[in-house]
This record gives sequence, C-alpha cells and structure tokens, in this order.
Amino acid sequence: MRPLPELTPENTAFWTGGADGRLMIAFCRDCDHAIHPPQIVCPKCWSERVESRAVAGTGTVYSHTVNHQPWAPGMAVPFALAVVDVDGAPGVRVTAEVVGADADSVAIGQRMKVTFLHIDDVWFPQWEPAQ
Ligand SMILES: [Zn+2]
Repeated sequence: MRPLPELTPENTAFWTGGADGRLMIAFCRDCDHAIHPPQIVCPKCWSERVESRAVAGTGTVYSHTVNHQPWAPGMAVPFALAVVDVDGAPGVRVTAEVVGADADSVAIGQRMKVTFLHIDDVWFPQWEPAQ
C-alpha cells in the first residue's frame, strides 16, 4: 500500500478531481497564474483568490526517469516517472507514474494523457501515452 497524501483545503481538488476524471490545477483569479503544487496564496501576486480549474488532462513529457526500487511495499518495478508540462497550465509540471507503456519506452516530447489510480479518498494522477 502506497502512502496517501494528506488532504488539505488547497490540495483536495487536485487529489480528488480524478473521481470525475478531471485533472484539477489551481489558478489565481486575479493574475491567472497557474499554481502547482496548489497553494492558498498566489506566489506571483499574493492574491488569496485561488481556485481550482479542470484542464484538458494532456501534456508533453519534459523529463522522465526509470525507477528500479519499490518505494513502498508491493510496488511493481521497474516503473517510469514522468515530469509532464500540462496543457492549459503554463509553467505547471506534474510528476507522476507512467502506466500503459514499458518504462524504457518513455521519451522527452512524448504526448501523454492523464488517468487516475483510485485508493481510498485519493485519485493519484498517472500518465499514459496519448492515443
Ligand atoms: Zn496571482
């Protein structure tokens, strides 16, 4: 069983958006800055008017790595972790496990779409190759 994130008012939308199949990213309502990880104050303009919005759930691999060590009991290895530039959220990169592809096949520039792993009250974003 993998450790679960602690749900807070600012991060609950991100960790539970998968219930509706939506990748939720925090945005500042005043300056439109995309904020990740989610915070209650915009780091750009200090506004507290932060809201979560659904983005398309697609993106492009910025970087990746292959993990050969299980960091929690029962995890299958090897697996790939990808850092993905999220479409519609400039500057936001979401790091997540890659599923639906061989760990060694992930490449920089590859297009990905989000999927979710549901455990208890958390929906972990995961990336899978688009199309
Ligand atoms: Zn702002």
